[in-house]
Amino acid sequence: MHDSTFSDVMSEVLEIREQYVRDRSVFVEGARMVRILRALGATDEDLEKIRLVSDNLSPDPTLPFRESKNGRFCFDFDRSAAYRLESQPFALSAEEDFVRHDSGQTRVFEEIGDDLQGNTAFQALLAFKSLVFREVPTAPRPKLDYGNPSWICTVFNLRTISTPDLVGEPALEGVHSDGVDHTMTTFLGCTNMTDDSAVTFLHDMREKNATRWNETDPELVLGQCRHRHFLDTLIVVDHERKHSLSPVSAVDERQPATRDMLIFFTRKPVLEGHISHPYDSLKAHDRLPMVIGLPSPAARGELVGAGGPVAGGTARWA
Ligand code: FE
Repeated sequence: MHDSTFSDVMSEVLEIREQYVRDRSVFVEGARMVRILRALGATDEDLEKIRLVSDNLSPDPTLPFRESKNGRFCFDFDRSAAYRLESQPFALSAEEDFVRHDSGQTRVFEEIGDDLQGNTAFQALLAFKSLVFREVPTAPRPKLDYGNPSWICTVFNLRTISTPDLVGEPALEGVHSDGVDHTMTTFLGCTNMTDDSAVTFLHDMREKNATRWNETDPELVLGQCRHRHFLDTLIVVDHERKHSLSPVSAVDERQPATRDMLIFFTRKPVLEGHISHPYDSLKAHDRLPMVIGLPSPAARGELVGAGGPVAGGTARWA
């Protein structure tokens, strides 16, 4: 029975991947994500726990309306594994289509701990992302090492908070890109947030950086979506689509409103001359080690089993 569930879910992941290849972005409903993550090893207990993991974040280094943590992981497809990388400062520059007061600044975030990286739902999200983006060709970014077999995934756990005094902006920078190849955003929960808050807009690359979400050219808007249910997930080809977000608004304006997210940035390691070159180590984290196996396309073919749509262990993504 377990096998047939796994097989069904793998066909579903393949469908999601096909949509991603075709449309250059895909939005997956949370209920579907729960089914997929369970098949990839998420336990019911951890699916409950991850809803609350953002209660333990720290003040953000540069944004007063945000709490944050981050952690770096490596997708190592040669070893069919993902592992935690040592901590490094973080930087995004205007060159990478990120224009904000802290562009080009190196920022140091509090580190993601075992409460998140040890959670099987989180580990299943990493596995899910790896299945969707693997071998998807994208418009290359300058100064990234596309000959390197490794992929660096920087994960942010973020809580955006609006109070009577301060508007919580999930993307204060307006229209931007994240400086990576594949961005995945997963909704964990919210409190006191209105139903029209935090809409994500996707824009043609011709849209001007730093334009506010409500001042963009409608002709260059390629789509919009809103994370509203637990685990609603968006994946975008980051160098082919820019994005912007509307703010978090409170239902009861006298009380704070919160929005909790996981953001998974994934890109190739950088080359010399890139702003992140000094901060791009592929060394494992010694104090917070974590390693998980990743389902590989070959193993997927075997696991699907005889009679399945991709039986025989010869399945290829391309
Ligand atoms: Fe972004």
